[in-house]
Amino acid sequence: MAERSILVVGGGTAGWLTAAYLARFFDVARNPRIRVTVLESPEIGIIGVGEGTFPTIRNTLRYIGIDESQFVRTTSATFKQGIRFDNWVQTPAAGREEHFLHPFEAPFHAEGYSLVSYWLLQDERTRVPFAEAMSIQNRVAEAGRAPKGADEGDFAGPLNYAYHFDAARVAEVLSDHARASGVHHLQGLMTGVELDPETGAIDHVVTREHGNLKADLYVDCSGFRAELIDGALGVPFKEVGDVLFTDRALACKLPYDQEGSPLRSYTVASAHEAGWIWDIGLSGAHGVGCVYSSAHMSDDAAARTLERYTGGRSLEVSSRQIPFRAGYRTRPWEKNCVAVGLAGGFLEPLESTGVVMIEAAAAMIAELFPHYGPADGPARRFNELMVARYESIIKFLKLHYCLSQRVEPFWRDNTAASSIPDQLRDLLEQWSYRPPSRFDFVLDHESFAFFNYQYILYGMGFRTDLSPVRDEFPHTDEAEKIFERIRHFGDLAARDLPSHRALIERIQAGE
Ligand code: FAD
Repeated sequence: MAERSILVVGGGTAGWLTAAYLARFFDVARNPRIRVTVLESPEIGIIGVGEGTFPTIRNTLRYIGIDESQFVRTTSATFKQGIRFDNWVQTPAAGREEHFLHPFEAPFHAEGYSLVSYWLLQDERTRVPFAEAMSIQNRVAEAGRAPKGADEGDFAGPLNYAYHFDAARVAEVLSDHARASGVHHLQGLMTGVELDPETGAIDHVVTREHGNLKADLYVDCSGFRAELIDGALGVPFKEVGDVLFTDRALACKLPYDQEGSPLRSYTVASAHEAGWIWDIGLSGAHGVGCVYSSAHMSDDAAARTLERYTGGRSLEVSSRQIPFRAGYRTRPWEKNCVAVGLAGGFLEPLESTGVVMIEAAAAMIAELFPHYGPADGPARRFNELMVARYESIIKFLKLHYCLSQRVEPFWRDNTAASSIPDQLRDLLEQWSYRPPSRFDFVLDHESFAFFNYQYILYGMGFRTDLSPVRDEFPHTDEAEKIFERIRHFGDLAARDLPSHRALIERIQAGE
């Protein structure tokens, strides 16, 4: 009977999420043929940032077998209905602020045709913003309402949502769950990796506390240290800093000004002269981080930017500077090693794609897993899919930057044609004649669908000019009635759903 062992090196979100996923997929508590072990060093610790997620996390947590209310309680989580972008379109003049929401809910559409063209054909000076016209989620989120009622079941609700959570606590929750599901846990420091001299694959890893550890598959979840995939196997890292310029974050956590103040159910991403600031409301505090390009802004200027945003409150708490390199491994699965999480790549915090990529990788490892035969069997396919995913996220992130009309050098450099991927440039050209379509994307590779592009494009004020073909859109009256109905449903939902804070407090109280 074939037996396989998987050694996960690293106990951050990547390590424990992958281990918990594999434990569930292979039912390791009852299946003696597959053994999953996590080795992690408390001495090194975890990165502990990454508070924003994407709606895929609900399915992942449900699949793993996590209880939603318990999860919300333990990780200080709040519900996330999207991201509000402040001042991305233009450098704000005194007293003028603008914003738009990228909600998670897909736009409504009519029977047999899309409403997008009818919105595009409305009078630009009087029409309501795109996301507000196309979905009820704007109204719900802006009204401080939750995406679901108090009696909705776990992970369910009328509106699509994800979570904001305390990243340090998430790894603990996943760890408890994975261990209860049969994952073995070793605390200790990996001090070396021995390769098989013939194949160049990993023969075993050396640890200070547990001697040599051998496995059939090694999962490198060692974070930015990338101990196996880089340190031992030297797999190249493709930098994409020429497309995505930010490379540092200065992060802090602030208590709320007043107890009981409204709890936002969306991330705020506020543009500044050389990047943006995240502001994420957890149940007891909010996480704020200034993301910037060190080529366009000094560390001191970033600290002052954070200070201005927080009204000086960032000076009262400790902040952490976190450098990163935008890019990914071109071969995250190499021989008998597969890198997941920061070891495999990281682009930047915008649109919260870190955990999404971990979810995607864990699911692929589980499904493609070689139960017998060579451990690198799935490598080619896995690598193709991960590279395609990274490339598609790069395009989507760049879209946010290259459409801005802000005048500072960081933003001007972002509009340089040489910094915009060819495929995105081509799509932008086409989208000036027609809106994004589902056929623009290979959905299996994409975290972001055509409607996510629509929300960003039209939120940023991009113009798709359909006026020369206005006559080809005959359903104007009907479309107007549907827009009216969306407005009406939005009002009802904003009235009937509980306040976000009330729902979180109810869950916190265990009701
Ligand atoms: P880590 O948390 O660093 O874990 C590495 C693990 O490896 C640790 O347990 C460590 O002890 C162990 N280890 C390392 N070396 C050894 C060794 N020699 N021996 C034993 N153990 C070892 N993602 C999102 O989805 N949303 C966000 O909003 C978001 N924001 C981010 C903001 C910033 C500034 C950054 C940098 C990242 C952000 N991310 C975000 C990404 C997210 O933080 C990571 O994807 C996630 O935390 C996973 O990290 P990890 O587990 O790969 O690495």
